[in-house]
Amino acid sequence: MQFLSFEKGIEVNGQTVYAIVDGFKLIKSLAYKHLKEAGVGEVEKDESVKINPSTWYSQEAWLKAFESISKEVGDSVLYQIGLAIPRNAKFPPWVVDIDTAVQSIDVAYHMNHRKGGREMFDPTTGKMLEGIGHYGYNRITGENKIISVCENPYPCEFDKGILTTMAQKFQPLAKVKHDDLKPCRKKGQKSCTYVITW
Ligand SMILES: [Zn+2]
Repeated sequence: MQFLSFEKGIEVNGQTVYAIVDGFKLIKSLAYKHLKEAGVGEVEKDESVKINPSTWYSQEAWLKAFESISKEVGDSVLYQIGLAIPRNAKFPPWVVDIDTAVQSIDVAYHMNHRKGGREMFDPTTGKMLEGIGHYGYNRITGENKIISVCENPYPCEFDKGILTTMAQKFQPLAKVKHDDLKPCRKKGQKSCTYVITW
């Protein structure tokens, strides 16, 4: 299901939240409107919304902003925000090719979320806390193909955007296709499946 957090009290860092502003490109006022309505960030005198990169924000509220963007603006902006995520969120340093790039999404996802005040991935121990779902990675042997099952509360088009930017970082011609025969979060199901080829 899109837009519904799996657990209460999860937080996401400002660096990641900023992708909403980045994804709206020239129409930043619209990004501010949705962030304001969802109660994310600080409203400034000029009606812009300040997102502090080192502050942690409520995931529930951030998802609310996604929901209203989806309803009022449409899915194409969710895709743009997804494309902007890798420009804004922190990614681990071992990303060197398309395989490690797609693998890193789940790690980065957990690094950029916090539960009970703790970052959900600890790079020193490699430990991951559960509670926000996952970004899958399954390389098809002998083919230039990766299947990614995404089971998390973020929207379908947003995840397609993240996968596209990460795949094209190392394989500029990579394509990401939503597998329409599999479940889809837009239909209220738990996950979406994407096929990455290059
Ligand atoms: Zn879907």
